[in-house]
Amino acid sequence: MDAEQLREQAHKMPGYLGKLLPDSAPTYPTLLEHVLDDVQHKILPGVTHWQSPNYFAYFPSNSSIAGFLGEMLSAGINIVGFSWITSPAATELESIVLDWLAKALFLPQDFLSSGRGGGVIQGTASEAVLVVLLAARDKILKTVGRSALPKLVTYASDQVHSSLQKACQVGTTSSTAVDPLPALAKVTKTNNIWFHVDAAYAGSACICPEYRHFIDGVEEADSFNMNAHKWFLTNFDCSLLWVKDRSPLIQSLSTNPEFLKNKVGLRAHIRNHIAMAAKFEELVVQDKRFKVVAPRTFSLVCFRLLPPPNSEDNGNKLNSDLLDSVNSTGSVFITHTVLSGEYILRLAVGAPLTEVRHINAAWQILQEKATALLENL
Ligand SMILES: *Cc1c(COP(=O)(O)O)cnc(C)c1O
Repeated sequence: MDAEQLREQAHKMPGYLGKLLPDSAPTYPTLLEHVLDDVQHKILPGVTHWQSPNYFAYFPSNSSIAGFLGEMLSAGINIVGFSWITSPAATELESIVLDWLAKALFLPQDFLSSGRGGGVIQGTASEAVLVVLLAARDKILKTVGRSALPKLVTYASDQVHSSLQKACQVGTTSSTAVDPLPALAKVTKTNNIWFHVDAAYAGSACICPEYRHFIDGVEEADSFNMNAHKWFLTNFDCSLLWVKDRSPLIQSLSTNPEFLKNKVGLRAHIRNHIAMAAKFEELVVQDKRFKVVAPRTFSLVCFRLLPPPNSEDNGNKLNSDLLDSVNSTGSVFITHTVLSGEYILRLAVGAPLTEVRHINAAWQILQEKATALLENL
């Protein structure tokens, strides 16, 4: 197998690596050269390249030179930051940087560490939501008594991220629709419900004044999270959680903050991706065979190939075939979701190296494969 064949196989065959590596750990040391050679020839072919400019799948998880230098620093020091004394600088830096970001997002004062609230870094948004659920649960049980545990409920949007399907939480992952926070705030207030806003992806965009209105109403929330490891040039994993009352969360785990760019640079980064997504959306709109199926809010475009009028399954198979045929080129990577029973394609712009030419190339592949599929119907 040459490298190209291996690359292709690696994306099709779970278990490919077991065949290439020994059954047990090496008895004797080996040269670094050999290790790196293995990385080059056995590992990299099986890596999904999230930093590729042709990566449009799920959501971005972008890195940066500043991001990985920060990782190296923190790996070198190997900070263990579960309490202030285990690494005072890490703990204080975390609070300071989360306050900076809270200010850049115009979060209410209550979320700053100068009051009763503050920010804390979690591994992922899923963990942030879990931590908030535990805090909300314990807070209410303190007033109503532990025996009420089986009666507790959480409410969430029907398109909530899978992490929650498995808190009152808002924010949707499939299509980046944004729930009306002020209206939800009213309901939660009247009913004494903990109100969590999950802006894992879209939170990054809200550092641009023109997108900040999407989180209007966050003033009323008990907690808010956004992922630095998605669209904010910070290595995985780094999810940011702010609460108005930090006391229930004091025991939570922390990792290191790496906020590495200035606000002007970060805003340009976000706006550039949103502009490219708008450009892609325009391309889709111009081709009458396709349809944009959900309003584009940030840098995600949800679209589908329209089925011929007599289509049995409303084009679900057609779009799933299109996704397979586009991804199997190995030149681009996109993913799908299901909205109201319809199989939808998602193109999420967010890799730092993506330029307009990559958007154009992705669209060209989509068009070519669509033409081929429609001809063979
Ligand atoms: C991406 C996303 C998540 C999950 O983020 P993880 O950090 O991978 O757990 C949760 N909620 C929303 C709205 C998201 O966009």
